[in-house]
Amino acid sequence: MIPAAYAVLNVAAASHNLQKVREYAPHAKIMAVIKANAYGHGVLRLAGALSNADGFAVARVDEGVRLRRAGVQKRIAVLEGFTCAEELDELVVHGLDAVVHSFAQLAIFEAYTERDKIAVWLKLDTGMNRLGFKPAELQAVYARLMQCSMIKQPINLMTHLANADADAKHDTMTLKQLALFNDTLATLPLDAGNERSIANSAGILAWSQAITDWVRPGIMLYGISPFAESTGAELGLKPIMSLHSRLIAVKPIVKGDTVGYGGGWLCEQDTMLGVVAIGYADGYPRYARVGTPVLVNGQRVPLIGRVSMDMITVDLGSQPTAKAGDAVTLWGEDLPVEEIALCANTIPYTLVCGVTQRVRQIEAMQE
Ligand SMILES: *Cc1c(COP(=O)(O)O)cnc(C)c1O
Repeated sequence: MIPAAYAVLNVAAASHNLQKVREYAPHAKIMAVIKANAYGHGVLRLAGALSNADGFAVARVDEGVRLRRAGVQKRIAVLEGFTCAEELDELVVHGLDAVVHSFAQLAIFEAYTERDKIAVWLKLDTGMNRLGFKPAELQAVYARLMQCSMIKQPINLMTHLANADADAKHDTMTLKQLALFNDTLATLPLDAGNERSIANSAGILAWSQAITDWVRPGIMLYGISPFAESTGAELGLKPIMSLHSRLIAVKPIVKGDTVGYGGGWLCEQDTMLGVVAIGYADGYPRYARVGTPVLVNGQRVPLIGRVSMDMITVDLGSQPTAKAGDAVTLWGEDLPVEEIALCANTIPYTLVCGVTQRVRQIEAMQE
């Protein structure tokens, strides 16, 4: 028996999307970003589906260790690096690449006596102001890293774009970041062996100048657009995840009735109300506004009233024959998650990452 709320994962779409990345960045190696349980899609499932990637990236050490324990042998970069010697040990033992972004990490390296080598990604902060060394610091840091016998040579270099999803006509940040990255690297004694990485999904899709030795796509691999103004389908991508539930009650409401907590929705004309078994405890966004589209039997109906923990309510006025048990889709191929994100004043990343344990994950049948 399928539980009321479930997500269908179309694993075949992952290879399609990976192929699209290759079309956008034909000469680059692909580090598939599968942090945060592969953006809520199931990390081991996606590591398998993306086995043609050249490497993987995760955010945290434990995420990398989990992949190794599951037998994943590909190169894995840990984007947040490590914060203590114990974490560095874990990286070394499991053969994970460390991102090096702070003087505290540098000090740990210099005090470390482990003989096994580790590959590193030296991170330059070109304006994101999150992780990374400042341009003025890079030369000295690079020289110190070259002195650490445990660090595999050559050292790789990376940065992260803050505004790659912004409208290129009005935003100068990305060009500034690219120039700063290239100018700063020009001061280091690098050669072709030092691999570079800049582009996330938005960088790959909108900034061909950001495509270097390695690209780091995340959201586009899941078939989702990084841009607020487009959908994955419009970019030639296929969404992997769709979220489903069913109607559990259908009843008439009359003019003057209110619906849901706070009585925030007032019925202005007699209609049929549908109650759907999905709520914020499943990861459906609490702030989805009235009118957010929901598919009932494949047809769009509007959300009414507030999203509650286990249920939402919809106006079935356009679907007089809908009944309890009927199929409901909250997002998926026919209802882009990007559109739902806009209705909930958020980004699709938070929606797919936010699907909770209560939602059963089911893999789509492969053709
Ligand atoms: C998450 C992340 C990515 C992937 O970003 P998308 O927008 O999902 O493509 C790439 N690089 C870094 C450093 C990240 O943290």
